[in-house]
Amino acid sequence: MELLVGKTLKELRDWAVQKGLERYRADQIYHWIYKKWEDDPERFTNLSKDLRRWLKENARFHALEKVEKVEGPDSVKYLFRTDDGHLVETVLIKEKDHWTLCVSTQIGCNVGCTFCATARDGLIRNLTAAEIVDQLLWVQKDIKDLPKPWHKVRNVVFMGMGEPLANFNNLKKAVEIFVDQKGVDVSKRRLTVSSSGILYQLKKMAEDPVLSQVNLAISLNAPDQETREKIMPVTRTNRFEDLWKFLTNYPLPEGRKITLEYVLIKGVNDSPEHARKLARLVAPHRKRFKVNLIPFNPSPTLPYERPSEEVVRRFQKILLDEAIIATIRWSKGQEVFGACGQLRAKREIPLLGGGFVKN
Ligand code: SF4
Repeated sequence: MELLVGKTLKELRDWAVQKGLERYRADQIYHWIYKKWEDDPERFTNLSKDLRRWLKENARFHALEKVEKVEGPDSVKYLFRTDDGHLVETVLIKEKDHWTLCVSTQIGCNVGCTFCATARDGLIRNLTAAEIVDQLLWVQKDIKDLPKPWHKVRNVVFMGMGEPLANFNNLKKAVEIFVDQKGVDVSKRRLTVSSSGILYQLKKMAEDPVLSQVNLAISLNAPDQETREKIMPVTRTNRFEDLWKFLTNYPLPEGRKITLEYVLIKGVNDSPEHARKLARLVAPHRKRFKVNLIPFNPSPTLPYERPSEEVVRRFQKILLDEAIIATIRWSKGQEVFGACGQLRAKREIPLLGGGFVKN
């Protein structure tokens, strides 16, 4: 069975020609998969009956199996299973007037941020491009009949499980598929890659013709080497000063900003002094950056606490007083454990065939 999800239009055309089909058949199939969100070839009505039957017998339209969907008031968490039995989480977040989809790129992660539940077991493996793309396809299939604008995912953020840039080639291919106007057609302005800030990977992103055109978010979480090293060990080899220098010179597309994600953790990085340090860094570059403050979501497996609302507001005010754009994300998805750094919360999930997967 040939897996068709995760193929670019060119790859699909090559496959069709190889199978003795006309090239335009590939374009029709591409349209059904990536525009109409259809996964049953019986419903590809502009194809002949024979071809539909042949596709049914010879092609696969999902790389993942949908296992569970948990709905909260402002987010929906989807749980998928890979062919080799791993679980992947995807969170659909309801914003004021659109959906944002938070996509995973790896199973586990080896970056080791101490405030992150995903880091617990290290990296198990990268997701394939098909597994990354299929998260969106499943969700789209689920919401496509809702009234506008809720019938389509508008924004995509690569902020789920894993460090996206550590899975560079598959990330790049998934992004290519997402932004293709003939298919999924997510605007490059509405697609964000969030990274922990590993410098050689960021340099690759800056030099890549596709990835350099989408938004960049950096999980900064501290205004200096010492504080960042405590919660993000990756800072030992990717020095704060070097990261900052790189970010202030990053070749930004016209009119864009880099988002600095800052998870506020009680007693660790949330003091007025931390805020003032951050303000001093960002203020000279206020046109280039915006700060997104994310109060930490307590988790039974992590030794940290969320600061009070007063502390969060005080931190924000110090930035605002310097005319820095600073928003607070009272993390949506918390009620389904889908908030940043909390994917893969400890749980047991019944397998369809019996037994349990411990995750
Ligand atoms: S916060 Fe992101 S980069 Fe850090 S360990 Fe978690 S998944 Fe990896």
